[in-house]
Amino acid sequence: MKKIDIVSIFPEFVEQYFSFGVIEKALKKNVVEIKSVDLRNYTHDKHKVTDKPGYGGNSGMVMIPQPFYEYYDEYKKRENKKPFVIMPSPQGIKFDNEVSKSLSKKDNLIFFCGRYEGIDKRVYDLVDLEVSVGDFVLTGGELPTLLIVDSLLRFVPDVVGNKESVKKDSFYNGLLDYDHYTRPAEFRNKEVPEVLLSGDHKKIKRFQEKQSLINTAIKRPDLFLKKEFNEHEKKIILEIIQEMQNNAE
Ligand code: SAM
Repeated sequence: MKKIDIVSIFPEFVEQYFSFGVIEKALKKNVVEIKSVDLRNYTHDKHKVTDKPGYGGNSGMVMIPQPFYEYYDEYKKRENKKPFVIMPSPQGIKFDNEVSKSLSKKDNLIFFCGRYEGIDKRVYDLVDLEVSVGDFVLTGGELPTLLIVDSLLRFVPDVVGNKESVKKDSFYNGLLDYDHYTRPAEFRNKEVPEVLLSGDHKKIKRFQEKQSLINTAIKRPDLFLKKEFNEHEKKIILEIIQEMQNNAE
């Protein structure tokens, strides 16, 4: 079973998130175990202090190394395994679908959630990968951790009920997803494309593939230009171009 420990001074925040939806179901099925670890349990003083003023002046509070190290030592003793430790940080590698896929293959993951100015540099000696969720600064590592864990769990077998739906999601094969419709077939004079009501699965598949290519070209031309198209996709692109030419005439 995949094990994920999230080390934070706000464990309740983390616990809340995983009590809903497909992730809650995966936890119940024992596909994955997510532990929300209270860093304060690894302190030894009366006030359970996890931060101190940073050296050098003017730099605010910094999380102290001792509880992180004690938690890590205990983990290794308990699990008898070297975990893969992730530090969410604006200075890390940028998180994307590929990073997510590769993290989903690791069995024992630990996330160290920082707060304040960050975590004492010596804690980074325990860290395998710093990961950033974007070029902006958040107040804590909990939100980035939830985002990363949520995303990587979608690649873990048996988390998402319909495996095929993950493969059709945006980015899985370098393209964006196609558009989705549901009932009613007509809503405020807006109609669902006829082909989707036809019951012809071959035609529907081709329509969706076309839609996915169009969405990518329009919304994310950077992905479209990077993509190495197979022969089938090239044929559909030619078809789209022809249709555009016909419409222009
Ligand atoms: N002083 C740090 C810096 O500028 O690099 C930022 C510290 S931030 C206020 C506190 C914590 O939030 C960080 O330790 C990290 O865990 C998390 N964090 C903030 N922005 C993040 C981002 N873009 N990606 C991942 N984690 C982030």
